[in-house]
Amino acid sequence: HEGGSRVSSLFPALNSVPDRTALRFGDRTLSYSQLAAAAGETAVRLGDANRVLVWAAPTLETGVAVVAALLAGVPAVPVNPRSGERELAHIVADSSPSLVLAAADTALPETLGGLPRADVATHVDGTSARWASAPDPDPGSAGLIVYTSGTTGPPKGVVLSRRAVASNLDALADAWEWTEDDVLVHGLPLFHVHGLILGVLGPLRRGGRLHHLGRFSPEGVAAALSAGGTMLFGVPTMYHRLAEALQSEPGLVPALSGARLLVSGSAPLPLSDHERIAAATGRHVIERYGMSETLINTSVRAGGEPRPGTVGVPLSDVDLRLVDESGQRVGSGGETGAEVVGEVQVRGPNLFTEYLNRPDATADAFDGGWFRTGDMATLDDEGNVRLVGRKGTDLIKSGGYKIGAGEIENVLLEHPKVAEVAVTGAPDPDLGEHVVAWIVATDPAQPPSSEELTEFVSAQLAPYKRPRTVHCLKALPRNDMGKVLKRDLVLPGPGETG
Ligand code: ATP
Ligand code: MG
Repeated sequence: HEGGSRVSSLFPALNSVPDRTALRFGDRTLSYSQLAAAAGETAVRLGDANRVLVWAAPTLETGVAVVAALLAGVPAVPVNPRSGERELAHIVADSSPSLVLAAADTALPETLGGLPRADVATHVDGTSARWASAPDPDPGSAGLIVYTSGTTGPPKGVVLSRRAVASNLDALADAWEWTEDDVLVHGLPLFHVHGLILGVLGPLRRGGRLHHLGRFSPEGVAAALSAGGTMLFGVPTMYHRLAEALQSEPGLVPALSGARLLVSGSAPLPLSDHERIAAATGRHVIERYGMSETLINTSVRAGGEPRPGTVGVPLSDVDLRLVDESGQRVGSGGETGAEVVGEVQVRGPNLFTEYLNRPDATADAFDGGWFRTGDMATLDDEGNVRLVGRKGTDLIKSGGYKIGAGEIENVLLEHPKVAEVAVTGAPDPDLGEHVVAWIVATDPAQPPSSEELTEFVSAQLAPYKRPRTVHCLKALPRNDMGKVLKRDLVLPGPGETG
């Protein structure tokens, strides 16, 4: 096929709106026809690869590389270019790629060993565009293999079909009224679902535009939204920084006020940040909930009632239920009003195909066609999902009660001396577990006392929810998405220092 006549049905805009800007990274842009040409040329360079590692720096090349792999029907494995040697070795060994795709000027680390490389083409003469793709690959075939964040254990390779990606992006468009007129702004990393699938493939599937900041900053967000951005995606640490910058960055308030949609996800957004942003800008950040394995499950809808503290309702391609420990389906509290906590289980075309090389883990993850997310939640009468935390790490079982860490974290964040917080459970001979709070003080020279915080929580929540122990840290352990790594919240042993 010559001259770009064939395009993947994933991205109709590659053909239909050639002159429109598709991608902008800093000052570099590609129109849809330039993207089609560059991705087409790159696709040819993949030859008969069966999997391709994409060196997913926050640059234009990553967008071109992933589109190229999708055109060629070669599953793309995006990797964090700042991965440590061990992490990279794990991904290479697990995914056994045939080659690496990277920007021409990238120096690749030794760990990639003898893996052949191909450079991503960025500027190609329109007429030389060609790719040898036969008819569109089977929708059930693997489009991408995305590694989980590794919050609860070693990252797992999640095989996502082309159908799952297309179906979920279309369901999101419906929930967010996302159209070709939208200009999405973000500065997210490009090796997870959030930044890459939603953040790059999302606008391309709509025929809209991505303006990637290269690197997140409140000034960058203000400038990009003022220059025509309509939507903003971010993780909670970014919205927290925006909330902090509202006073000092004068352009930010009008920029956020003028945006059509502010979306947060990947981890819980503290109520205090919701409130500060809404108070200053009149805009409510909406939260959506997803995972590598499921793409996006639920979202607060654009144009609907703001629902801070919830992640909204299931998307149109998702079936969702809550199941308690005995395997019984639970509903909303209904007339009793009592919150019933259950594990979120989902099914639908959005689901992953399997964990790479982990048939055991894949089988364990399903309950008769329903995927067990490992996230615990309650449902309100309108079907809004309120996440209370992850099974295991965030659900504290104390004296016969089940306590969600998030509720206590939200209360502690209201305390003026608390800048950041994570709540965990610790073994307790009487209670089974008790509540522990790990905090970062607003002013390290004047940390709050344990009594102060315990009283503060007791004044607002049932007594059994108060922390029995409070630890002050310089910073919380977080991964590249800003997620708190609760498994790393352990005190140094005797003789060690913090
Ligand atoms: P691993 O599976 O390797 O332990 P991970 O679960 O953090 O890591 P991801 O698939 O990137 O890896 O993240 C999915 C998880 O992120 C969800 O299971 C959920 O716990 C959390 N999450 C996503 N969106 C939200 C949100 N809006 N609010 C709270 N938590 C969220
Ligand atoms: Mg997970």
